[in-house]
Amino acid sequence: MERPENGSSSASTTDTPQVLRPLTLKRMFVPFGIVVPATSAVAPEVARLAESVELFCLSPHRNGGAELALDLAELSRCLNLLNLKASEMAATFAGTDEYDRQCAYSPIHWLRTNCHLTAGAAADRVAVGQLVQSVPQSVEAMAGGEIGFAHLALIAREAEAAAETGLDSFDETKLLEKARNFTVGRFRNFCHHQRHALDPQQYAAEEASAIEARSFSLQTGQGGVWIRGLLDPEGGNALRTALEPLARRNGKADHRKRDRRLGDAIVELAQHGHRSHLQVTASLETLLQHSVAPAADLEFSLPISSAAVQRLACDCNVTRILLGAESQVIDVGRSTRTVSAPMRRALDTRDKGCRWPGCDRPARWSAAHHVVHWSKGGTTDLGNLVLLCARHHWMVHEGGWQIVRTEGPGYKTVPPQLDWFASRARGPDTRAA
Ligand SMILES: [Zn+2]
Ligand SMILES: [Zn+2]
Repeated sequence: MERPENGSSSASTTDTPQVLRPLTLKRMFVPFGIVVPATSAVAPEVARLAESVELFCLSPHRNGGAELALDLAELSRCLNLLNLKASEMAATFAGTDEYDRQCAYSPIHWLRTNCHLTAGAAADRVAVGQLVQSVPQSVEAMAGGEIGFAHLALIAREAEAAAETGLDSFDETKLLEKARNFTVGRFRNFCHHQRHALDPQQYAAEEASAIEARSFSLQTGQGGVWIRGLLDPEGGNALRTALEPLARRNGKADHRKRDRRLGDAIVELAQHGHRSHLQVTASLETLLQHSVAPAADLEFSLPISSAAVQRLACDCNVTRILLGAESQVIDVGRSTRTVSAPMRRALDTRDKGCRWPGCDRPARWSAAHHVVHWSKGGTTDLGNLVLLCARHHWMVHEGGWQIVRTEGPGYKTVPPQLDWFASRARGPDTRAA
């Protein structure tokens, strides 16, 4: 089935003016000189600009590709100029104590909160505003549409860095030439290379302070553990290098969004090779998934479901503490249920990786799944074990899927009976290996 075109304007090929969309702007535009109450306190120039912008946003735009190319470029030039003006105003604002009066920690903190900017964008605005006098050629190039505001901000930062080192190394003409020819990303790289070439010691010192600024916080809150952190370029690269291969789509039927895939990848990374440190404390009822059993405790997080405990206990690389009646410890990761190293090697050789049809995760990223769980009488031998990657192991235990051996050498998957699961955990297109 064909999907309907997304968006109303781009698909049309006629010049017929379109019906105005329902008003989505916060303030209703009031035409022809009537004072808009919400903007009455701002400067008349800002109020006039706001009126023009709102009128522009409510009017239809041209639809032809060539026309849009012209209009978009001009609109971007205007946005860049507005950003520059906002930067000059932000720099002046930073020189006042208004942010303090309004209980912000700094001008940048105020800009982040009140102008809804990221910390980087807010800092760029103040820096550009403060340094605008020292980069006149670049300002002119931006006004002429040759470079963007992001280029200008990078050039201003270079001027700032050169001023801090006290070296007379800032060559605006040369930098601007590069900015004209490079995308923002490439130009940022070029600036880094140049800064290193001019002053490797200073560059190394900045790198060291970025490492000192590494931070990572984990906070248990509503729904799970909240993550917040900052990594230096090298640390960030190491993390991304480790995560990217794990975050790739796992076959055509993998509909997880990138955020979700990265989330899954970081968990997979953390579990890899460190499972022996994972401690699960559960009652026998929980492990057997009895209906009124309590959840299981993890050492450093919120309680988890009995289905999750079964999955973790399935691989047997976790330290599990089973509690009997009155909470006495009855089992601490009994070794008879553990897949021994030789057995795991044999399993790796036989299965080579996740056996879910269509999955290509290698053996070292897969868990040994008991087809019949050991808590239900399944044995820990090759006949009852199959390698499954973290995602497919989860789909079997929590997603309600089954993996069963076929007559031949492969496995087939059986989807869950409940639609609730089907909408959350999709299997591959092919049902048989
Ligand atoms: Zn399992
Ligand atoms: Zn898999």
